[in-house]
Amino acid sequence: MTNPPSRSRKNELMNATPNDEHLPYLERVVHAATRNVAAGGGPFAALVVVDAEPVSLGVNQVTKTYDPTAHAEIVAIRRACADRATFALPGAVLYSSCEPCPMCLTAAMWARLGAVYYAAESQDAERAGFDDLALYRLLRSPRDTWSVPVTRLPAADAAAPFDAWQAYDDRRPY
Ligand SMILES: [Zn+2]
Repeated sequence: MTNPPSRSRKNELMNATPNDEHLPYLERVVHAATRNVAAGGGPFAALVVVDAEPVSLGVNQVTKTYDPTAHAEIVAIRRACADRATFALPGAVLYSSCEPCPMCLTAAMWARLGAVYYAAESQDAERAGFDDLALYRLLRSPRDTWSVPVTRLPAADAAAPFDAWQAYDDRRPY
C-alpha cells in the first residue's frame, strides 16, 4: 500500500517552487476546484496532461451523481482513458488541486501515469471535513482495528478465476 510522503519529503515538496511547466496546470485545477463548490460539487479538481497537452479536466461529482468514487482524479482519468480507448496512459501527468486520497493515488498507478502533482495537502482537506488523511492513517493501522471488517473467507475454487485467466490465450494483460 502506498503511504503519503514522509514529513521530510513533505517539507521538500512544500519548499519546491512550481516551475513554468507545472504552474498553469496547478492554477487551473485550484480554480476549477473552487468553482466546483458553487456548482454543487466537492472542492476538488484534477487534470490529466498527455504529451504536454491537457486532455481531461475532472471535478468532484460525488454528491451530484450519487457516486462515492466520483473523485476529481477518477473522473479525469476515466475520461482521458475512455477518449483514447485505452486503460493505461504511461507518461501522462495528473495534476490535482489536493493531495490524492488512497483510492485516487492507486487509480493513477493502475492507469500507469508517469507523475502526480498536487497543490493543497491532505491536512487542508481534513480541516474542511474530508477523510483523505484519516484513510491514510487507517491504511497504516492494523486491519483488525478498522471500522469496516475486511475478512478472507475460505471458498472452494477461489483461485479458479486466476487459473482461467492464465489459461486464456486472448487475455489482455493490464
Ligand atoms: Zn480520491
